[in-house]
Amino acid sequence: MNPADIKSVLYTTAQIEERVGELAARISVDYRGEKLIVVGVLKGASIFMADLIRKIDPEVDIVLDFVVVSSYGSAAASSGVVSIKKDLDCDIAGCNVLIVEDILDTGLTLKSLMENLRARGPKSLEVAVLLRKDLGNEPVLKPKYLGMETPNEFLVGYGLDYDERYRSLPYIGILDERVYQ
Ligand code: 5GP
Ligand code: MG
Repeated sequence: MNPADIKSVLYTTAQIEERVGELAARISVDYRGEKLIVVGVLKGASIFMADLIRKIDPEVDIVLDFVVVSSYGSAAASSGVVSIKKDLDCDIAGCNVLIVEDILDTGLTLKSLMENLRARGPKSLEVAVLLRKDLGNEPVLKPKYLGMETPNEFLVGYGLDYDERYRSLPYIGILDERVYQ
């Protein structure tokens, strides 16, 4: 990639690692001695999920699962309903479930996914989100575990893409408008 595509680095690798460690420490305390199904929302959450789970105390009995969701373009913003393109492999009834997501913008994607999973009768259902856009209004969803509040810019790196690119960057950067204009 062209380094000029990234306007500025918002969070360095070290800053991300420190914050992920803090979230993992809280999760370790909250689920000590319990089984926890960690559900990653592909593809964006994959890097965050991989780092997070390896920092959680092994006394938490972790099982991994994944979903792929698709929102119906801009129509999804009004309907707020996502379709599940790849569903869970596990049955989550009676289990502790933690959804791991990369970024909350309107929060509608996650809200819709949560409603879908809650209907399956988990024992508990919480969310860990690395980033949340500060939109200046009341968020539709308050994740129990939140990494950072970000400015309202288009971010890439550490799993986040633009047109499937930039996911492998080890930091989170603001994409230069020139790339998508
Ligand atoms: P929401 O339903 O919360 O409005 O949308 C969340 C989804 O939009 C995220 O899972 C992510 O795929 C995408 N998204 C929102 N903001 C950004 C961003 O700044 N960068 C990237 N790469 N994706 C984003
Ligand atoms: Mg996503």
